[in-house]
Amino acid sequence: MTAIEKDTVAKVHYTGRLPETDEVFDSSEGRDPLLFLVGYNQMIPGFEDELIGAVKGERRTFTLEPERAYGPRIPEAVQQVPLQMFGEITPEPGMTLMSDVGPFNVVSLEDDVVTVDFNHKLAGQTLEFSVEVVDVREATAEELEHGHAHGPGGVNH
Ligand code: ZN
Repeated sequence: MTAIEKDTVAKVHYTGRLPETDEVFDSSEGRDPLLFLVGYNQMIPGFEDELIGAVKGERRTFTLEPERAYGPRIPEAVQQVPLQMFGEITPEPGMTLMSDVGPFNVVSLEDDVVTVDFNHKLAGQTLEFSVEVVDVREATAEELEHGHAHGPGGVNH
């Protein structure tokens, strides 16, 4: 039986919780399982590490501190920008928008100054994952060349 290791393709159902509040921040429940090529930085580092050696049908629950999840919160990533830079978009607190340097969240809007946060929403958070391995297979040569998994739940092209 193939176990999860580098150069395999894992198919998993997962639920991610914030252990402090028990809030579910992401889950594959009700969707296709997630498919990913192991060992190619497709996932946050701890997620792959904790699944190494798991086989089809296995369930694992683990806790990831920020260093192995989305990293620490960086105070400098919170910035103030003038409203006119948003053009036709009216920023509202809670919105996630895209910029040239990646996505950011709108924190607040005061007068003509918008406070934005480039930290990932889960930066600085400890995360708990509960994962069920639906399938594990060897990656194809094409997948290894592309650096991602192909098929439903992965990349379709
Ligand atoms: Zn591809």
